This record gives sequence, C-alpha cells and structure tokens, in this order.
Amino acid sequence: MRRRSSRKGCRDNAAAVAVAVEGSRRCELCGAAARVRCGHCRITHYCDKDHQKADWVSIHKQICQLLIPIRTSLPCPPTERERKHGMEQLLRRQKYIIDVAYSTAQEFVWDGKHEEARPAALHALRFSIEVYGSNSLQLVPAYLLLAEASTGAGHLPEASKYLSQAEWIVLRTPDCSAAVQYKLHRSLGLFCAAKGNFEQALYHLANDVYLASSTFGLQSIETSGGYFHMANIFFRQNKMDIANSLYAEVAGAWHAFLLKSLQAQQQVLKLRPEMSLFTKDREVSEEPMTEAQQVEGIRVLNAILDIREQAPTQQPGETAKVLHALAMLHYLLMDLPKARELGLKAFELVKQLPQQESLEPLRHLLKLMNVEPSSTK
Ligand SMILES: [Zn+2]
Ligand SMILES: [Zn+2]
Repeated sequence: MRRRSSRKGCRDNAAAVAVAVEGSRRCELCGAAARVRCGHCRITHYCDKDHQKADWVSIHKQICQLLIPIRTSLPCPPTERERKHGMEQLLRRQKYIIDVAYSTAQEFVWDGKHEEARPAALHALRFSIEVYGSNSLQLVPAYLLLAEASTGAGHLPEASKYLSQAEWIVLRTPDCSAAVQYKLHRSLGLFCAAKGNFEQALYHLANDVYLASSTFGLQSIETSGGYFHMANIFFRQNKMDIANSLYAEVAGAWHAFLLKSLQAQQQVLKLRPEMSLFTKDREVSEEPMTEAQQVEGIRVLNAILDIREQAPTQQPGETAKVLHALAMLHYLLMDLPKARELGLKAFELVKQLPQQESLEPLRHLLKLMNVEPSSTK
C-alpha cells in the first residue's frame, strides 16, 4: 500500500517536472527565455548562439552527455532499494560534475582566461547548491572562484555579489575554519585592490595573513600569499621599502618550502633507489606539491624576480634567493633545462657575495642535474 502511494507520488512529481521544464526553457547561462538548443544532448537551452558558444567552450563540451541522465526524469524505479541506488548514482554524478567544472574553471583562471572560466565556475556553484543546499560552507570555494573569474573579466558588480554570498555563508557558520576564512579575506582583498580601494584591500589582506598564519604558521607559503598581495599594493603605491621587505618574506617562505620539498624527494629516492626521478609513478615526497601550489609558486616567484631584476638598486642576495627557489621548483617539475639555467644564474650571483652560505645547496642542486659549475675562486 505504502509503495503504491509512493510510486504514484513519484509519477506525479515526474509529470510536474516535465510540465515545469516544458514551460520554462531558460538559457543555461543567463536565465533569459531560451531560443536555441544544444543539438548533442538536446536538453540544454540558450537565449542565443553567443551564450551557447560561450558555455560550449568553457564547460558544456565536457559535460554535455553527463547532463542527460541527471536532467531527464527516468521512469520511477519499482522498489525502495532501486530508488535508493538511483539517488546515490545521481549524487555521484552531480559531485563528479562539480569536480570537473571547478577544476576546469580553475585552470582557465590560472591561464588568465577569466571570461572562459565563468560558465564553468557557474556550473560548479549550481551543482554545489543542488548537492549541499544554498547555505553550505561547501559553496564558498565555488563562489570565490566565480568572483575571481568575474573580477578578472571586469564584471565587478557580479564579483561583488558572489563575494557577499560567500561572506554571508562564512558569517553564519560559527565554527567556520580559519582555512576557509583566510581565503575569503584574500578574495575580498584582491577585489578591493582591483577597484583601487587600497586601504580596504590592505585591511582584508592583513586579516588573511593573521588567519592563515594561525593555521599554517607565519613562515608558510599559505601565509606568504597574503604578504605577496600586500607587497603588490605597496609597490603600486610606490612604498618601496615596505614592498621590498614583504617580497623578501615571500621569497624566503618559498625558498624554505622548496628546499624542504627537494630534501624530501631525495630522501624518498634514497630509500627506494630503483625509482629514478623520471619514472612515471614517482612520489616526490610525503606531501607532494598540489597543482595550485605549483602554479602559485611559478607566478609569485617570477613576479618577484622581475621586480628584483628591474629595481634601480640591485640586491644580488635577494635576487639569487628567488633564482634558487625557481630553479628548485623547475627541477621538481622536471623542467631541467630551465632549472639548470636559473641555477647557474643564481650560482654566479652568489659567488660574488661576501656571504656565500647558499653556495652549497646550489652546488648540490646543480650536481643533481650533472652540472659542474666553475670553481669559486
Ligand atoms: Zn543567455
Ligand atoms: Zn549538450
């Protein structure tokens, strides 16, 4: 009896969904009345060809077929067990789309393609809302990514709206971790900097540094991210003394982190001599660098190197430290020609310094790459 009524309910729901869908074909991107349909999945609609193309380039080509089982209502399964199985499968598919959409948007942002990132980030957010509800902390990463993409693409009012949503969720979650909060403050800081409101930006970035250091430590690369963005603001304000000392902090944090990563990798290789650096399944260390860290390291260190090399007063010790850090990073990423070039440049600089304590680690790095630098004297 219970089963019959629940099956009837299920049928009614499916019918209601079908009617609702029929009457409300909305553009996948902007929500306006739809006039175009994707010819591949035949269930995704757009207001015009431009929005269809933008969605296709960003994310739809990857998820077009995956959307079919999620968005088409199947006949109601006959048993409770099958219904439960169906729900679990739906959840798995939704979570998979969140992952694909989020990482795709993230890569576009890393490549500086902010406009392309937006539809993908929007899908990550929408599916996160479907899975976790509209007030969940799980939505914050998608909101922040969407805000970053919108800021980068010059849509500041939209970015502001997404940041407010993220801030609202964080504020109403009393046990929200510092690891989430520091990212929110970083995003708010970068948004204020993009608007030219440096004072407000520095306020948020100082909060970012405080929260990140409480979780990861003052000398961590996580904390150094906040320092880096503060330094950029002081640089833009032409406050070079404070910018320089913050850039030195950031380079120091990356140098120490990469030195440790390199030592950990050498330790692993020593314990497992059959593994060479270039075997495909090598484990670099106990805690290998994430892709986000690799991208951030390259970007931050190259930005500081440019500033050091173009500074009116040269600080060869600081420049050498950045070169050394970049050489280690490229070595860990297996880009040996670049690692050699940077390592040798650092070595030449350090040779001329009165303090040569970083000569040994550099010589060691070059030796790993079979480079014998010319003698010190
Ligand atoms: Zn549209
Ligand atoms: Zn499609």
